[in-house]
Amino acid sequence: MKLGWTIGLAGLALTLAACGGSQDTPLPANEPAPALTPEPETETSGIEQLELHALDCGTIEISNLDDFSSAGDWAGETDIFKDTCWLIRHPEGDLIWDTGVPGMLAGQPSFTQDIYTVSLEQTLTAQLRARGIRPAEIEYLAVSHSHFDHVGQVDQIPDATWLVHQAEYDFMFPEGVEGEGEAATQFSAFAQMAFEPFVGELDVFGDGSVIIFPTPGHTPGHTSLQVMLEETGPVLLSGDVFHRRESRELRRVPRFNTDEAASLASMDAFDARATQLGAKIIIQHEPEDIDPLPDVLR
Ligand SMILES: [Zn+2]
Repeated sequence: MKLGWTIGLAGLALTLAACGGSQDTPLPANEPAPALTPEPETETSGIEQLELHALDCGTIEISNLDDFSSAGDWAGETDIFKDTCWLIRHPEGDLIWDTGVPGMLAGQPSFTQDIYTVSLEQTLTAQLRARGIRPAEIEYLAVSHSHFDHVGQVDQIPDATWLVHQAEYDFMFPEGVEGEGEAATQFSAFAQMAFEPFVGELDVFGDGSVIIFPTPGHTPGHTSLQVMLEETGPVLLSGDVFHRRESRELRRVPRFNTDEAASLASMDAFDARATQLGAKIIIQHEPEDIDPLPDVLR
């Protein structure tokens, strides 16, 4: 079952890619995978204070939650997940955290495969433009992990530098970006981006205000995000350490996680970090966490 659902997630991404008619873009020439040094645009963003914007990057109806608890106690239950993307605006640049479901779904009828029915109202590009931001101005991209509902619109910010935990990079491209096969097709948009791999934690802007930290288990290089907001205080974005509030309260681990023990350890570490910081926790798929948020957190 575990393997089956892993394939299911990847299969959905491939099916969506196929049904959207996106052309296969050639992969980069066979060259070593260097850590490219980004040259962020020096033009000022005009932002003087750190901002966190929640973007609606999809809705996912789950027709059977059994997959989301290895304890077997959610079989037959249903739920509706939010799929959020995040824009972090810093005086030194912009970071997009997660990119939701594929942009080709925008304005289309919902799409169903297996237990998932996915839909999208507006693309990431449209939501950035509504804020007066050109996608080409985004300096950095990071995704919590490489599942279909977090990488769907990477192709919309191809000029950003991809900040990626080395373990997730290796999970996505076991044969390197020049490899062929399913992974290379699924992640072709990433393969064409400048990227900076890291291990441990990454202090994105060098001032401690935005930190990507590893929370492995859902995938090998899964990460979460810490944002130190001036007015709101510290905020932790979960990625998929937890999918629902009940996942956190009951310590429920999805059946398709790559490592259950690591998942439980990451849950504990995430909670300990939140307690230590006095941080607000946001579970990215949880409507109860997302719906009350203002347009911008500062
Ligand atoms: Zn997810």
